Amino acid sequence: MFELLQTDSTSKARRGRLTTAHGVVDTPVFMPVGTQGSVKALDPRELEEMGTQIILANTYHLSIRPGIEIIRGAGGLHRFINWPHPILTDSGGFQVFSLAKIRKIKSHGVEFRSHLDGALLFLGPKEAMEIQRAFGSDIAMVFDECPPHTSTPREFRSAVERTIRWAKECREQPRAPGQLVFGIVQGGAQAALRAECARAIVAMNFDGYAIGGVSVGEPEREIFKAVELTEPFLPADLPRYAMGLGTPAQLVELVARGIDMFDCVLPTRVARNGTAFTNKGTVSVKAGFNKADFRPIEEGCACFACRQFSRAYLRHLLNVNEILGLRMVSVHNSHLYLKLMADIRAHLAAGTFGEFRREFVANYVPSRRVLSARDAER
Ligand SMILES: [Zn+2]
Repeated sequence: MFELLQTDSTSKARRGRLTTAHGVVDTPVFMPVGTQGSVKALDPRELEEMGTQIILANTYHLSIRPGIEIIRGAGGLHRFINWPHPILTDSGGFQVFSLAKIRKIKSHGVEFRSHLDGALLFLGPKEAMEIQRAFGSDIAMVFDECPPHTSTPREFRSAVERTIRWAKECREQPRAPGQLVFGIVQGGAQAALRAECARAIVAMNFDGYAIGGVSVGEPEREIFKAVELTEPFLPADLPRYAMGLGTPAQLVELVARGIDMFDCVLPTRVARNGTAFTNKGTVSVKAGFNKADFRPIEEGCACFACRQFSRAYLRHLLNVNEILGLRMVSVHNSHLYLKLMADIRAHLAAGTFGEFRREFVANYVPSRRVLSARDAER
């Protein structure tokens, strides 16, 4: 199922190949986020053209709308959204704890009111796995509790205990044919809790492991710390996934810390504010200094937007609220994330990842505004 092809001599970075029911995924990999069954503003043909191997879809949102029966009726999620390649579904745990209004945590899940119409709903390990089974995703995630980074030690502990108990319940549920299931490690930035949670989850023999609770508004050093505290406990021969991260430079640093899989709303999220990623940081396409700049967003970028259009034209489109403007910035940003991962894989194969990492991170200037946008929506 997972083949570890190569390890880096200068860091913990790895190159691998993950085989799923709908195809092979080369790692390290970035998974564009299709929360509602669509990667915002992009169509499947565009995603294929930029080299997307796998996308993420969201159990919480899709089970509320259009609902499990519609997706089952369509013949599963791949057919419903017309994406024949691999799909990973998250379990809905993150949204239940972040979006839902008025929740009551019970022993077998969470009773909550829909963030849309207030309807009383229940989601737990059994329900989350049943929905993901009906969707027929290639990789299903266990139902976990993801506490905010400001939680007390006692809250972190009870979240870990619940996460372990629920993972065990998820493990016992039936799966869709060929469906892989990944366990999730919680525990904040506390060494003992991360170790305890990782040991218990790994003992359940999942197909891969995710590090959860790492994109919840905490500063970057805490993200890296949580990953560094968890990674040593994860089996080397299985895929590792850091949930909900990050900026391009963070992805490079997380690959160097032994992570294989990523998802993040940033590329499409900031595109809708007219912000573009480049290999040196972000740029506001809308800004006045682009008014008469007839160069592409990034020189040398092979994406459709950069091959066809100038900054001046894209700025104009954004200023007059033409849909094409935000679509093209979404194309560029998503392309940049996917190209970055392809470059990382090529450098790992060539044995030059160490140099690439040093140069990329040194040239990349992080933006505080972008970091806060990451936390605004997921
Ligand atoms: Zn581009």
